[in-house]
This record gives sequence, structure tokens and C-alpha cells, in this order.
Amino acid sequence: MPATTLQGLAPSRAIARPDIPHAVRGRFRRIKTALTGLMLGLYFLTPWLRWERGEGLPGQAVLFDLPGRRLLVFGLEFWPQDLPIAVGMLVFGAMALFFATTLAGRVWCGFACPQTVWSDLFFAVDRLIVRLVGKGASERRLRTLAWVLLALATGVGFTAYFIDAPSLPGLLLTGQAPAIAYATVLVLTGTTWLLAAYARERVCLHMCPWPRFQAALLDRQSLVVTYQDGRGEPRGRRRTPLRPDLAQPAPAAPAAPALMGLVAQAVAFSAPAPSPSLRGDCIDCTRCVTVCPTGVDIRRGLQMGCIGCGLCIDACNEVMVKLDRPEGLIRFDVESAPRRSFLAPPRVDWLRPKALAFGLAALLALGFSGYGMATLAQVSVHVEPQRNPPFVQLSDGSVRNDYALRLAHRRAGLARVVLHAEGLEGALLRLGTQDLPAADVVRVAIGSDRTLDERLLVVLPARAAPSGRRDVTVVVSEADTGEELARIPTYFWGPER
Ligand code: SF4
Ligand code: SF4
Repeated sequence: MPATTLQGLAPSRAIARPDIPHAVRGRFRRIKTALTGLMLGLYFLTPWLRWERGEGLPGQAVLFDLPGRRLLVFGLEFWPQDLPIAVGMLVFGAMALFFATTLAGRVWCGFACPQTVWSDLFFAVDRLIVRLVGKGASERRLRTLAWVLLALATGVGFTAYFIDAPSLPGLLLTGQAPAIAYATVLVLTGTTWLLAAYARERVCLHMCPWPRFQAALLDRQSLVVTYQDGRGEPRGRRRTPLRPDLAQPAPAAPAAPALMGLVAQAVAFSAPAPSPSLRGDCIDCTRCVTVCPTGVDIRRGLQMGCIGCGLCIDACNEVMVKLDRPEGLIRFDVESAPRRSFLAPPRVDWLRPKALAFGLAALLALGFSGYGMATLAQVSVHVEPQRNPPFVQLSDGSVRNDYALRLAHRRAGLARVVLHAEGLEGALLRLGTQDLPAADVVRVAIGSDRTLDERLLVVLPARAAPSGRRDVTVVVSEADTGEELARIPTYFWGPER
């Protein structure tokens, strides 16, 4: 198995890092496994959930219905004009991320980022294959096959959010799927293979901008993965008794703040220099490095490559338990909180102004989106005048204007509407597809897909036609109850006189 080498590790030891991080057991591994399973399950299973909306409407619970220009999410239906709700949700996501980062560092990166989730999946498959067939040519072939299949499943899974999921595999296999579906599968398969199978930790180390931003969000009270160098150093492989000073009160943190996330210096506080005859708790086994998905040696201090996944904590705790030493040599810790000893849990100030501000902003954005969802317009009507030509003069002298009418609604039971024009005395209306004489009120049935795309014709007798432009309002009402649903201001053109 090829290995990369980290040089310059104090006290002059090089670490051979495996290309597949070693497996580890522990609390953070369990949390990661649960979240990875949850997110992958949500991603792959959500398109298969069904939701009964009635005849003529898609039965998929979550569907980007591009031909219908809407997003269906269970009982909700969103249109392009509902974009502010999406913006509110994005702002909520950003503020929630800032809030979590301020409090607990890169928990998003370590546990929930899709790059982390998919890399974790690929690492797990790699480890399984190595365990089953050992290392060698068959292992490489099997790994490549597994990568392609996983990437393909991801591509098809993504496309299923846009096309009825149960029909999609059949459509793809029989060549009946639209070209854009094949293109989407291809692009997603390629990017998944590139990012999760090939690049993996390089994405976190070199491509993702988020580690650069997070430096501005962390402070000396943020929880970050920390190697307690005051307890672990001087490191050495020889097993020694627990240093007696570990249970003593520790000094305050250094005053100068470290530039979080960018400077490779220890976040852990300084401790009184131990006696040279004693060793610290770190036995330099390098287990914390070999389990790290990004290959970071956390003993060098907080680094940009550390995604805060906590696996090195689990690894080191395993070692400490075997050595009969207290856990927590590596742990989530804060830089500046007062401590009673190396072994006491860190005291975290959760109610910090910066965190509260981000939390409040997240709640406001969520409230904005929630309000938007609760007050969604139930009917959307667009009436666009056709301007080429702006009007048509008929053989009897009457003047006709054409409009593109688009109606969409998300209201149960709405099947028919009536249209009439206000502001133009004597105006008669007719739909392009209706073989009926024009009338002052036009009745129309809405399709079972809750949309209506029609050509609307408005005719004025010659004596009533305006010279030039005249404002007019198209009024849409519910056919059975007469309830007014929409008023759309537009205009009517007549020949200049
Ligand atoms: S796992 Fe713990 S004991 Fe082993 S090298 Fe890392 S910090 Fe030291
Ligand atoms: S050093 Fe590695 S294993 Fe430890 S938290 Fe950071 S990314 Fe995870």
C-alpha cells in the first residue's frame, strides 16, 4: 500500500501515513457513522418516498418538477417566485453554520459535509475490500469497481430528484430517459468519483474555501480538537507512571491569541515543565495520525487540515485505556477557559455574544422563511401582452390584442376559473384554443397538473377601441364561488388616431 510521509514531526520522527486511514472505535466514530448513515439514507431514499397529490400531479414526495417549473416537497409546492423563501433558508443555513463553528469549530466539516460523508463511505468500502481480499491486484480492481458503482449510484440518486424515481432506472436502461438525465448522471458520477474516490482529503486541504473563512469565526473560546501538550509531552515510547502534576491546578492560558485554524501552534495551554526524568502521556504510537482522514498530526497544534471529526480523540482514548491512563489527552477543548487540571473537563462559555448573534440571525432567517411558507400565494397568474404585432384590426373594424396567459395554483379543489377585463368597456374575451365566440366573461377549466398555458384574445369593437395605449385589468375568479383570485394589470393597444 503506498504511503505518504509527514516530515519534521517533533522530536524528529517521521510518520508513514497509510493511504486508507485505519479504522477506529469510540464515541466520535459512532456519531460519525450514525450521521453518515442518516445522510446517505436521506439522500438515496428521499426520492422514493410517495405523496398523494391527486390525479395528474406527481406522486413523488420531493421532486424538482422542471417542466412544471415547481419544487414539490410533501404537501408544499414552491414556484420560482418563491425564491425569497429559498434565500431565507440559505441564510438560515449559513448562520446556523457560523453559529456551530463559533461554538464547536469545524463540526460541519467533520460530521455533516457531503465531502466528508462520501469520503467516509469510500474509506469504509476500501477497508472492507482490503479486509476481504488483502492487498494486491485484486484489491485494486475491486476498489476501482466499487468506486465506479458508488459514484454511479450517487449520480442516479441525484437524478431521481428530477424524474420519477421508480421509473428512472427503467428509462435509463432502455434509452428512453431525456438526454439531460444521462448528462446529469454522467456529471454526478464523474464528480463523485473525482472528489470522493480520488481527491478525498485533498478537497479539504487544498480546494475547499471554508477552512479559510472559519479563522474569522473561531475564537479562543471555541471548542476545537486539541492535543494537551502539557500532559502529553515530552512524548516517548517508554511506558511510565502517570505524572503526578496532571491532577494539579493548571496555569491560565497564554494571553496572546493564536490565529485559529491557520497557525500550526498548539491550542493547548502551557504547563509547568515536567521533570526530564518523567515522560508525558503520549507514547508516540502515531495512532492519532493513522486514523486521521486528512493525515493531520494534531500534536503539532490546530491546523487548517483538521476537520474536527474527533477520530484522533477516539484513537488516543483507546491507547490511554490500554495504558491504564485517563482519557482525554486529545479532546475537544477551548483555548482560554480556566481549568482546574489537565483531567478536568473544559468549561465552555456557551452564551458568547458572537455565537448568540449568529444564533439569533439564524432564527430570524428561519422565521422569515417560515412566514413566507405560511403565507404562500395560492394562485399565480401572468398575463403578457404579445407585441408583434401589438394589435390586429379585424375585417369588421374591431381591434384585437393577444396575451400569453399562464396560471398555476396550489389550492385543493380549484378546477375552473372565469376571466373578465376591467377598464375596457365592451371588451370581449376568448381563449386561443376555444372554438367559441368571444364573450365578456370567459370560463376555463384548469388542467389536473394545476397549470394553464393559453392564448388570451381581447377584442374591442371599432368604436370602443382606444387610440394608442389604455390600461386594463384582467380579473381571475373562482368559477363556482365567484371568489376573486387575482387582478393582473396590463394594457391594450389600439390604432393611433
Ligand atoms: S494516539 Fe495519543 S499516545 Fe498515540 S501518538 Fe497520538 S497522542 Fe500520542
Ligand atoms: S486531526 Fe484528523 S482525526 Fe483529529 S479531528 Fe482533526 S481531522 Fe479528525
